[in-house]
Amino acid sequence: MREDVYFYLDLTTDLLKKKELVKVIKYYIDEKNKTNIKGRYSLLIFQEEGNPIFITDKKDSGIIAKSVDENWKLRPKKRSYFENGLFYIFSYIAETVRKKSKFNRIIIITDTPSDLSEGYQEALFNLVSKIKNFPTFIDIIRISDSSERFFSDDVKLNMLASDTKGGIFYLKEKKELANVIKKLVKTKQFTTTFVDQPDRIKISQEDYAFYNHLAKPLKKAEASMDKLVCHLCKEEVCPICTDVYDIPLVCEDCNTNFHNCCITNYTINHNIGIPNILRCPGPSCDVLIKIDEDEIIEVSGEVEVSVKEFMAEETLHEIPKTIPKVQPLPSSSNVGFVKTDKPEMRPSSIEDSIKESR
Ligand SMILES: [Zn+2]
Ligand SMILES: [Zn+2]
Ligand SMILES: [Zn+2]
Repeated sequence: MREDVYFYLDLTTDLLKKKELVKVIKYYIDEKNKTNIKGRYSLLIFQEEGNPIFITDKKDSGIIAKSVDENWKLRPKKRSYFENGLFYIFSYIAETVRKKSKFNRIIIITDTPSDLSEGYQEALFNLVSKIKNFPTFIDIIRISDSSERFFSDDVKLNMLASDTKGGIFYLKEKKELANVIKKLVKTKQFTTTFVDQPDRIKISQEDYAFYNHLAKPLKKAEASMDKLVCHLCKEEVCPICTDVYDIPLVCEDCNTNFHNCCITNYTINHNIGIPNILRCPGPSCDVLIKIDEDEIIEVSGEVEVSVKEFMAEETLHEIPKTIPKVQPLPSSSNVGFVKTDKPEMRPSSIEDSIKESR
């Protein structure tokens, strides 16, 4: 599957030199391009005052390298915009995965803990719980002065990487960067997402609302003289209900038509882990679409619960009004660190991190 990669440079110090950075990023893209034929590359770097430069969807490593070069000098030197940067990237991913199914990988190179309020962090983790299912992986490379061993944001970084099955790397010497990047080029995907394990997804009501909002409903076809043929059954009249008023609906993105009954049946076997949401089966379309929640129960005898009932049953728990300070992750989220001997990596478990932070 296509993988889109987002480099996020969260660097306020001069520990890393621009030249070294440009070199490894170029190397990564050039190597990755050999196997990730359809992949695209993006770069986020803030400027002073917190204005983001976000170059998206590039194929050519030269363009990304040039953007680093041009925007390096005016990057913020006083503070990190860590959370803001991720919000930008997440909203871009949410918009683009609506159109195409793909893997997303965010590579954050950071040298400064951000000290934003807990409210920001909560909002961040709320978004991560949605975006990770697309799937999105977050790799974090923390560069530091060799004297530093612990950082105020260790817990946050570990949670981000483990929750999204990415890796976390602590670099004490900048020359280790090239080795980490080499390892990241070879990273194999962990694919325990709802793409291949639809029955194991557990999402909250809030997350459900998010996916439901991303997916478009099919539209009623414009009145026309032409008889519309359903893409799935290849018939004008729906063979399931034989009702002439089951006029094929249309996907706004690809203009493909589907009988209500046919797309409902199709959805039962091809949803994205949420019963009424699927990717459009139209030719070379992949957009997220949804059918009426109530249709699922009407048509098929195999599905015994409505979407609403499914959501009520499958929800882990109600989202509490006030979120606890450090929210432990569900036990199902295995810590998916990339194995490496050197540079040093600290695969401290989330539980340990939480304990330490108390
Ligand atoms: Zn049909
Ligand atoms: Zn029908
Ligand atoms: Zn479509």
